[in-house]
Amino acid sequence: QCAAVCPTAAIKVKTNLDKVWRQLYDPGKRVVVQVAPAVRVALGEAFGLAPGEDSIGKIFTAIRMLGFDAVHDTCVGADLTIMEEAKELGEKLESGDDRFPLFTSCCPAWIRFAETKHPDIMPYISSCKSPMEMFGAVLKEYYKDKDKEEGKETISMAVMPCVAKKMEAVRDEFIRDGVPDIDYVITTKELIRMIRESGIQFDEIDPEAPDMPFSISSGAGVIFGVTGGVTEAALRRLVQEKSTQSLRDIKFSGIRGMEGVKEAVLELNGRTLRIGVVSGLGNADNLIEKIKSGEEHFDFVEVMACPYGCIAGAGQPFCHKVDKKERMAGMYRSDKAAPIKRSEENPVIYNLYHGGLLEGREHELLHVHYKGAQPQE
Ligand code: SF4
Repeated sequence: QCAAVCPTAAIKVKTNLDKVWRQLYDPGKRVVVQVAPAVRVALGEAFGLAPGEDSIGKIFTAIRMLGFDAVHDTCVGADLTIMEEAKELGEKLESGDDRFPLFTSCCPAWIRFAETKHPDIMPYISSCKSPMEMFGAVLKEYYKDKDKEEGKETISMAVMPCVAKKMEAVRDEFIRDGVPDIDYVITTKELIRMIRESGIQFDEIDPEAPDMPFSISSGAGVIFGVTGGVTEAALRRLVQEKSTQSLRDIKFSGIRGMEGVKEAVLELNGRTLRIGVVSGLGNADNLIEKIKSGEEHFDFVEVMACPYGCIAGAGQPFCHKVDKKERMAGMYRSDKAAPIKRSEENPVIYNLYHGGLLEGREHELLHVHYKGAQPQE
């Protein structure tokens, strides 16, 4: 059965749809929105589509019909995360510091859990912002000049499968010069409500593409929505041999599947890499205790707070385990259909780093130093 509440349990879910609607009707605002990878395989269920059916094109269309000014795919943010996180892992392996593995950082419920329960591992959590926050920073920078020219203010929103993302968006670390990189987070269920309230016939609308210039993302970005996906995407980036066979080797290494704890040992660029993939905070807690006691040793550990990953986030429509399996299969089908499989092959990413707005600003816009546990609201 689906988790009905956020894994951080104590987070109160506040809906802010009235404020979202007000922003959409304000002519002085440019409302831009990004949509997380896992939303595409779940939102359609509310309108009669099968669980796991990728409806991202229809979601983009519906969002434009609701009055948003621009719509983007968070998979671009995931591609950015992979570029930075794979680099960080490579540097950590070179450093020889193997007291703890490098832990992933894209799940805010996991970050909060680590801050409060295992503060000693915080230095080993990747300094990469989550895909939502990376892309949020890039979008706020991108629209700055246009805002000046047109006398508008950009409001950055994000459709997420996740309740904890609402908490992440208001953390001090993601507010630059007094301005948050993400102004509003809308869950998948809230977007469903907006579509219904507007009378949009979701099952009948035609699919559209996201807005330029961020209109291309990779399959690696899509699979962020399932447990094991971040690891698979990072390995695709790190492996030197960029062949179809290397994609298959990573796929069958043991990091895919619905189990709450997965372990894999991989030969990567001439060295042996030990990887842990956990979903569910109880599983994460057990694994960390084993690492601390010396019973287990890993080079890299991916943690997602929700069992099975974001496909089963508390912001998604309710479903049973069999449907979560379908959502997971849907994510991998979308990756299979993607013409670009690796984040570094995405031309949007290349352009951002080479002469684009990220050149020389990677640290400022893409990385975070957590100041410590935040009081719960
Ligand atoms: Fe949110 Fe995904 Fe983490 Fe669940 S696993 S809390 S949906 S980021």
